Formats: sequence, C-alpha cells, structure tokens
Amino acid sequence: MQKISNYINGQLIEPVGQTYLNNYEPATGKVYSLIPDSDERDVELAYKAAADAFPAWSITSAEEKFKIMMKISSLIEQNLESLAQAESKDNGKPISLARIMDIPRSASNFQFYAQAITQFSSEAHQMEQSFLNYTLRQPIGVVGCISPWNLPLYLFSWKIAPAIAAGNCVVAKPSEVTPMTAFLLSKICIEAGLPPGVLNIVHGNGPKTGMSIVAHPHIHAISFTGGTTTGANIARIAAPMFKKLSLELGGKNPNIIFADCDFDEMIATTVRSSFANQGQICLCGSRIFVERSIYDKFKTAFVSKVSKMQVGNPQDENTKMGAIVSQSHFEKVLSYIDLAQQEGGTVLCGGKAVQLEGDLKDGWYISPTVIEGLAYDCRTNQEEIFGPVVTITPFDTEEEVLKMANSVAYGLSSSIWTKDLKRAHRMASLIQAGIVWINCWLIRDLRTPFGGIKNSGVGREGGFEALRFFTEPKNVCLKL
Ligand code: NAD
Repeated sequence: MQKISNYINGQLIEPVGQTYLNNYEPATGKVYSLIPDSDERDVELAYKAAADAFPAWSITSAEEKFKIMMKISSLIEQNLESLAQAESKDNGKPISLARIMDIPRSASNFQFYAQAITQFSSEAHQMEQSFLNYTLRQPIGVVGCISPWNLPLYLFSWKIAPAIAAGNCVVAKPSEVTPMTAFLLSKICIEAGLPPGVLNIVHGNGPKTGMSIVAHPHIHAISFTGGTTTGANIARIAAPMFKKLSLELGGKNPNIIFADCDFDEMIATTVRSSFANQGQICLCGSRIFVERSIYDKFKTAFVSKVSKMQVGNPQDENTKMGAIVSQSHFEKVLSYIDLAQQEGGTVLCGGKAVQLEGDLKDGWYISPTVIEGLAYDCRTNQEEIFGPVVTITPFDTEEEVLKMANSVAYGLSSSIWTKDLKRAHRMASLIQAGIVWINCWLIRDLRTPFGGIKNSGVGREGGFEALRFFTEPKNVCLKL
C-alpha cells in the first residue's frame, strides 16, 4: 500500500515514530494509502530545517523567488491530470471539478504570489523637512500553515505561496483526511529547486501534529483554515504566546433571491452554489431565502433540477455529485437531515444516503437535499452542516430577510439576486459577511480581500493582505 512521506529539509522521510494513519478513499470507503502519524519530534525537525533555511531565504531576491515559484506553478500545470485524479480519489470530489477548479487554482496561487512579491512595496511618511519615516516589511521567520480537506491543494497552496513569497520558511500541515496532493506537491517543490527547508510538510492529525505546530514556541505566526471550534482551540493556545493569527473558519451563508432577478441565471447558479463539491465549500449558500411572490415558482424549478442530479463515481467524467469526504462527516450530515425533520422541516428532495453498486457500495454518498418549512432560527438554519443540504425559506421584505440572514453566528459570504442595483448595494452594505456576490457566485479575483466576520474568522487572505499578514512592519524614523 502506498505510504505518504513527510517533506522535511528538502527530503521525503518517514515519521520519527514510524507509525501511520489510514487514508480512506471516500468513493469506496476503503483504506488506500497510509499517512505519517507525525508528532512533536517531526514538527521539531521541520522547525529546525525551516529555521536553518530562513537566513538565506529571507534575503533571496524577489526575482529569484519569482523564478522558483513560477516553476512550481508550471509543474502543477504540467501534472494537472495526475493531480486532479489524486484529488478526486482522496476527497471524493468529481474529477471534472478537480480538473477545472482545484488544480488550476493551485497553480494560480503560486503564480499570483510569485508576481505579487515583485510588486509589493511599503510606505514612507515625511514630516515636513525634518524627519523621514519609512516602513520595512520584513518576513516573520518560521510560520505555520494548517489547512482543511474540502479544497485540499487549493487551500494549502493559498497559504504557502504568500508565506514563502514574503520570505518566510514554513512548517505546513494538510488535512489528514486529504493528504495526497500535498505529498505530490512536495515532489514538485524538489523538482522545482525550492531550497531545502523553505517549505516543510508534516502529515498527521490535528490534536497531535497540528497542535505541535500551534504550540511551538518559535513558530511565530499561524495561518489556519478549518472549523470554528478548531479555530477557537488554536486561538486559545496561540494568543497568550502572542502569535500572529489568521483564522478562516466556518460559514452558514445566505443566498437571497428577489423576485426581479434573472430567474434562469439565478436557478443555474443556485444549483451550483448549493451543491458544488457536495456542498462542501465554505462559500456554498446553504440558506436560500426567496421573495414570497416567486417562492412556488422557485421551489418547483429548483427541486426539479436538483432531483435530476445523479450521485455517482467521482472518477467518472460525467459525475457532478461525488462522495462525502469521510464516514464521520457522512454521519454528521445525515444527522442534520434527521434534526431538520425533528424541527418540523419537510424534505422536498434527497434526504437519504445513496448506495452505489460494486466497488462503490461502501462509499459515502448522500443525495442532494432540499428542505423547507423551518424557522430561520432553528438549529438546522443556524449551525454549519457543510454538506449537500440546503433550506429554502420565503420572505416578504428587505428588513425581514436581512434579519434572518444576519441571525447566525457566522459571516463568511453571501449572494444577492436582484436587478435593482440600488437595493443590491443597500443589501451589500448591511449584510454581515466578508464577501458579497451580487448576481453571481464564487467569482474570485485573487487580489481581493478574502475572509469572514463574526465566527467565520479573523483577518483576511488574498492579494497584498496575505503578504501583510506574513510580514512584520517596522517603522524607521530618520532625522534629516
Ligand atoms: P478542521 O478544523 O477539523 O481541520 C482543519 C485542519 O486543522 C486540519 O488540518 C486538522 O488536522 C487541523 N486541526 C484539527 N484540530 C487541530 C488542533 N487542535 N490544532 C491544530 N490543528 C488542528 O476542519 P475540516 O473539517 O478539515 O474543514 C471543514 C471546515 O473548514 C468547515 O467548517 C469549513 O467551513 C471550514 N473552511 C473554511 C474556509 C474559509 O475560507 N473560511 C475554507 C474552507 C473550509
């Protein structure tokens, strides 16, 4: 069985304790590879390699970093098909999605930050003719990057690329649920000539490997994407150590549909924004609010389209709905469908586990589920499910829908559908979310600030925001 290795000091090595965790293929529910069960000894090796590499990397020219990062990006592009296959097998996502979204975006992340670092600058403040202040933006040192399973290589590289572009050396941990493409990335980094120790990838679970990174006394910044509860645990350890923290956490995003929207475009996009990646994208809109005058029309059209979505083998070219990432997540999603019914909801379509045939019979599949008839403040409508489950709720006024949309503890993203631009801007300014899409969804310009408010996180990624996070500003004041 294939064994994944840690990537430390430019080499692929076994974990010190020589123990491994099982890695499951969601499509079949079977173990197909082994992941290092790393502990604090592996994190210490990774830290030492990063600390040794830092003096040289921190003064490497932007041009040199650009060349290496562009090489990584082009190797990801050259290996697109094998990386997409690996991502689909590891995560259960449709191969078509991995091909058009996950892997191309991972290449773009390296390309974008290779270029961004050549454009990054800092400020100068002159005080009349007597003093000049200028701000240095210096790399922090060794930083930790921890990422989740839903967009494995995409979100892993979204952290690593700005961290190394800014001159830091990294100890990174991908999710133990989907470690494969991070492992393949380590091979690409070796081939691209990334100096040993600049990036170290330590595999293992959260409480042991992840926490060893978070609690390490000399890793001074943590960039984390994952669940809100995990984020709170990380903050509890990191904050008293005065670490810089970037936390991208959970969501419960509203999708607000007014009667005057372009109906066909809205329906097509709403099917995607509800169920892309089996609803396991932090930006999916899981609470759909529909203006009452088109509620019945929406319900009929939406349910008709969703009922036709076939759950299938993720590796099949035509599959649009693949497997749920793990058994525990599969059980969690099903338990929320039960809860919704206990809370008085009516399942309009889906609502069940699906058993496929042959090798896939033990895989974790759930049909896309639409539920109506729930109060906006019930648990189903307040807690993150992070699966192929959406609720639909009618509304009458802007005030009412804003109250319902903003009632959750989260504030990551939102969508608004209307042709009335004044209303769109008004709603955009009042909605409690870090990201608002008007008449579209998941359009991503990598220069824009990315992140959430309330329990959806602290800080922003994207563009120069990430380069600012991964550098310390130092003001120098000079008497003229
Ligand atoms: P998770 O919090 O369980 O795990 C995320 C990562 O943290 C994994 O690598 C895990 O091993 C690690 N981890 C777990 N416990 C840890 C600990 N105590 N110390 C250090 N590291 C620890 O999240 P998940 O289930 O992998 O991902 C799903 C969640 O991620 C959802 O809540 C989703 O909304 C969120 N998410 C947010 C964004 C965003 O940009 N805001 C993007 C994607 C996913």
